[in-house]
Amino acid sequence: MKKELVKRESQEEDTIIKIDGEVIIGDNKLMMIAGPCSVESEEQVMEIAKQVKASGAKFLRGGAFKPRTSPYDFQGLKEEGLKLLQKAKEKTGLKIVSEIVSIDDIELFDKYVDVIQIGARNMQNFDLLKKVGKLNKPIILKRGLCATIKEWLMAAEYILNEGNKNVILCERGIRTYETATRNTLDLSSIPVIKKLSHLPIIVDPSHAAGQKYLIEPLSKAAIAVGCDGLIIEVHNHPEKALSDGEQSITPKMYEDLCQNIKPIAKVMNKKL
Ligand code: PEP
Ligand code: MN
Repeated sequence: MKKELVKRESQEEDTIIKIDGEVIIGDNKLMMIAGPCSVESEEQVMEIAKQVKASGAKFLRGGAFKPRTSPYDFQGLKEEGLKLLQKAKEKTGLKIVSEIVSIDDIELFDKYVDVIQIGARNMQNFDLLKKVGKLNKPIILKRGLCATIKEWLMAAEYILNEGNKNVILCERGIRTYETATRNTLDLSSIPVIKKLSHLPIIVDPSHAAGQKYLIEPLSKAAIAVGCDGLIIEVHNHPEKALSDGEQSITPKMYEDLCQNIKPIAKVMNKKL
């Protein structure tokens, strides 16, 4: 059998990912991504972009194509949403992270997005994995809702095997019997991934926790166990959000979080 490319055995040193020659993750750099669950309007996305940038985020997240559990829930602004993200990028200089849900949209994402996100529900969409594997862009691969670490790494292998080595794993919680939180954040997966693989790993406390008050403590814990970045949902009016308002923190809470994680990042030798 071919030696698996995601494994430490095939590459001893940690993967460092760059965009236009600038390190975005790895090499002690913490990748800070923040923004709304969904792009809703120009005003919303611009306002949030300006505020998270002022707090230290380098990447703006925002879903334009939303993989919703119910077909009656807001499905996203689609291409219009990607154009609004592009506008926010032009205004703020933030790089764009957005989720792709279909192979039909590959060209759109190649055009408008700096880092392509593959969501938990598509972790084993092998056609999609193979397609993004042919691109040169960094890919965030979220852990599936019920995926083992081995299954997750093999999903990443599909991307690497097509030639794209710029894969960032994202722990976003897994489904367990616990109901007090939306999912259970598996913090063990970070050191386990570090042992098994050279790929960088970020944490999404928002989808793991499902509630605002848990975002800061989980972010601190994630950095303390060695993650390489955080992707956090931030909304200027969480109570009016079209998706995931419960777990979306305000720009002010994000500002405080960015300050409060600094001492832990320093101990872990990570720069924001
Ligand atoms: C998201 O990031 O908005 C999202 C849908 O996340 P996940 O795929 O982790 O559920
Ligand atoms: Mn969301």
